Amino acid sequence: ASEAEEKDLVIIGGGVAGYVAAIKAGQAGLKVACIEKRGALGGTCLNVGCIPSKSLLNNSQLYHQILHDTKHRGIEVGEVTLNLQALMQAKDTSVSGLTKGVEFLFKKNNVEYIKGTGAFQDEHTVAVNLIEGGETTVRGKNILIATGSEATPFPGLTIDEKKVITSTGAIALQEVPKKMTVIGGGIIGLEMASVWSRLGTEVTVVEFLGQIGGPGMDAEVAKQTQKILAKQGIIFKLNTKVTKGDAEGEGVSISTEAAKGGKEESIDADVVLCAIGRRPYTNGLGLENIGLETDDRGRLIIDQEYRTKIQHIRAIGDVTFGPMLAHKAEEEAVAAVEYLTKGYGHVNYGAIPSVMYTHPEVAWVGQNEQELKAAGVKYRVGSFPFSANSRAKTNLDTLGFVKMLSDAETDRILGIHIIGPNAGEMIAEGVLAIEYGASSEDVARTSHAHPTLSEAFKEAAMATYDKAIHY
Ligand code: FAD
Ligand code: NAD
Repeated sequence: ASEAEEKDLVIIGGGVAGYVAAIKAGQAGLKVACIEKRGALGGTCLNVGCIPSKSLLNNSQLYHQILHDTKHRGIEVGEVTLNLQALMQAKDTSVSGLTKGVEFLFKKNNVEYIKGTGAFQDEHTVAVNLIEGGETTVRGKNILIATGSEATPFPGLTIDEKKVITSTGAIALQEVPKKMTVIGGGIIGLEMASVWSRLGTEVTVVEFLGQIGGPGMDAEVAKQTQKILAKQGIIFKLNTKVTKGDAEGEGVSISTEAAKGGKEESIDADVVLCAIGRRPYTNGLGLENIGLETDDRGRLIIDQEYRTKIQHIRAIGDVTFGPMLAHKAEEEAVAAVEYLTKGYGHVNYGAIPSVMYTHPEVAWVGQNEQELKAAGVKYRVGSFPFSANSRAKTNLDTLGFVKMLSDAETDRILGIHIIGPNAGEMIAEGVLAIEYGASSEDVARTSHAHPTLSEAFKEAAMATYDKAIHY
């Protein structure tokens, strides 16, 4: 980086939030630099999050299916063996292809990529400790903080990413553990429990609350999903608090007690996965040098245009408010750059989908039943099971349902909750419906190709405003 030149925009962090903003700014003709300390672009999502976890979920499901779900389809297979090293290699190949792709997009859009750790020197200057050695400074008229998040550690257990692991260790284990304890039954806990359980590990998930799935999951969906995952072999301990852990001996032992106090128990395993949430990451960023503070949960405080109290410094993605999701970070990146270049931007926080990539997948958008009840909203419910959907039946993959919630008076769709094969793709239709303010009748009167899983979506809409045909 040249010290003399002042950039229009300096971005700290090359994760989904940062790299998307960099490309968008480059496209708008801004002089832009993006600082990333990891040595690869794409952040948590591409390197140790969304992408590697989905590679393992996809291939472990294939393995599991070949082992347990072929004979009744008329397919006889011989001996099936797992090559964990090759499975991990396939994941690494997907990751490196994608991170290099982002690097190519930087070049294409004239984004300067600075490899190093950035820290505020003053309100317009970021000092960068370069990976290759040495230091530089870069000045920006505007600065965007996109430094993301990190796993919240469990007090008393030291993470070594081998025996006591976060998701980062869970996507890189060298052998299949015999027993794994997962602390936290949120999305990370359940996705990783699925991967290792399919590969042969006995997995116990300990969750403090009375339902799995983390914040936002509809209670009926959570209950049904738990049943399905339990049938796949995952052991659940709900309403249970992990009080301490001990990794001194050979394996790891954790102590639990009933969430409301009382009964104590200990669980031994080879590996413990801490999946109790993530927290914003601003370590070493030099916020103190510019007087920026975070809230009690470590989040950077911003206004509706993503500005911190220092008007030319903005923050987006996991480091600030809202769900910690890659596509949320991406929406904010585009909006933040548009605020900068045009003066307006737009993110509809009421229409951000959530997907859990277990099998079957779980996906939702909008409000769930418990939220609507708490808000005193009168609503209608329509649902349709995949066991009545022709395509799911032909695919011999019929677990789950589509549930639609609409306003009792106006029929406007308020929420959609799906458990089912391909739910993560199907939810896009629900997001579009909510974004456009559709009623359940609008969706019900829209033609859906036959035979597709999406017909279950249409039939759930029919069941919401009138009656389904096939159930
Ligand atoms: P990050 O991706 O964390 O990027 C921040 C970047 O900033 C990092 O690369 C970091 O090295 C860099 N950085 C930090 N400080 C500095 C500094 N001072 N100088 C230079 N660089 C710095 N979300 C989904 O939507 N779908 C999924 O399927 C999904 N799966 C996930 C699976 C796992 C196991 C995990 C952990 C997360 C998953 N997520 C998923 C969440 C998703 O990864 C995050 O929401 C997303 O990465 C947030 O993007 P971000 O750019 O805000 O932060
Ligand atoms: P989470 O907040 O979704 O779930 C954490 C769970 O741990 C909660 O259910 C909580 O009640 C429980 N918990 C907390 N302390 C506990 C204790 N002491 N004992 C037992 N249980 C305890 O967090 P996560 O699963 O770690 O995921 C972190 C973030 O990453 C989330 O924001 C998630 O959206 C994101 N993520 C998304 C995807 C996806 O979109 N598919 C995948 C992985 C991660």
